[in-house]
Amino acid sequence: MTAEFQVQGQDVSVLAARFGTPLYLYDGDALRQRITDVRELLHPRLEVFYSLKANPNVSICALLHAHGAKAEVSSLTELRTARRAGVRPEDIIFLGPGKSRAELAECIGSGVHAVICESLSELKLIDEVAGELGRTAPVALRVNPSFEVKGSGLTMGGKPRQFGMDEAQLLAEPPLGKDLAHTRLMGVQVYMGTRILSGSAVVENTRQILALALRMAEHHGFELELVDIGGGLGVAYFPGEQDLDLAELAEGLNPVLDAFARAHPATRLVMELGRYLVAESGTYVARVRYTKTSLGENFAVVDGGTNHHMAAVGIGSFVKRNFPIRLLNRWDEEPTESWNVTGPLCTPNDTLGKKASLPPVREGDLVGVLRSGAYGPSASPVLFLSHGHPAEVLVLDGQAHVVREPDECEDLMRKQHLHPFAGAAG
Ligand SMILES: *Cc1c(COP(=O)(O)O)cnc(C)c1O
Repeated sequence: MTAEFQVQGQDVSVLAARFGTPLYLYDGDALRQRITDVRELLHPRLEVFYSLKANPNVSICALLHAHGAKAEVSSLTELRTARRAGVRPEDIIFLGPGKSRAELAECIGSGVHAVICESLSELKLIDEVAGELGRTAPVALRVNPSFEVKGSGLTMGGKPRQFGMDEAQLLAEPPLGKDLAHTRLMGVQVYMGTRILSGSAVVENTRQILALALRMAEHHGFELELVDIGGGLGVAYFPGEQDLDLAELAEGLNPVLDAFARAHPATRLVMELGRYLVAESGTYVARVRYTKTSLGENFAVVDGGTNHHMAAVGIGSFVKRNFPIRLLNRWDEEPTESWNVTGPLCTPNDTLGKKASLPPVREGDLVGVLRSGAYGPSASPVLFLSHGHPAEVLVLDGQAHVVREPDECEDLMRKQHLHPFAGAAG
């Protein structure tokens, strides 16, 4: 008998047989541990808002919420998901560069804590929609800061961006909101980028964002009820990367937050976290359908691919970098061979692992892409080749639960209409 990858004592082969593959497996204990660690180590005044974009599954959101996470949402469905997960409107913020009138109306109508406004035109629309509803919209300004802080895979500051409003532009405006009868300016949000693995970069970002928030509130003459310092904390995926040390981050960050919190006892301090809360808890599991060789290289063709896990392509770098990829059903075997792990799509890009080090792979084996709980199916072309969304299973207190059914053919075909002329013989 060989050791297997397990989630809370459950063998992966048993779970795969029970639920089918391909499949996303989430470890509820790991999710719980992560949100708890973040809340216990970071300053008690810092509220953690879960960015549903990273994984919009309602059960994941509910589990994080049960352990203190609030919600940052960017679409109507995300808003309703957070509500269904039990998050109260006053613990929800809504953000996004292209909000619709319907989204704004539902945000304002449901009483979210803040609409994060990303342009002056949007500010006008917010005021108009709030007026129609007979409400006052609480609005935080999303600022594209003039400063730039290194350490993120995606730099937001100091560059032209479709997100938010430039700091210099905002400071050149006369005080906003004076002629907006249905808007209450109340906060500032800055998001510096994603995949930040440097604790000192987060500390420096935060220091600068807090100062910027004070400048904005002063210039535009509003009470600072909310400062959202963004987040973007990363996890290590690729060789050479190192995980953030949360305790070390807390050591640098907490004094900065503490000084601000004491000086501004009525201001809510928010950190938005997506990837950091969910990435490590998730494993993408696919079964090997065929093995073959081509011009001397090994190929394992598995039953799911980049249609479910686009991030595993390792885009954003010149050479493909592999996510951590392992043989799950023979967890303890030495990786002595080099394998290309590819999916069912008819495109060479459908490569989960390029020349990945694995034990000798056999048909029927289970391949796992680890650290895959964030930006999985919802950030992948799940409709490519009409395969649809994979199943999602959450293991909680030793019990496995389906938290999302896989799409069936009918689910995908239901919304198409066969036009009578399209089917007519020529
Ligand atoms: C995507 C996004 C997040 C979440 O980012 P992570 O890196 O997954 O934590 C938070 N805030 C904003 C504004 C975003 O665009």
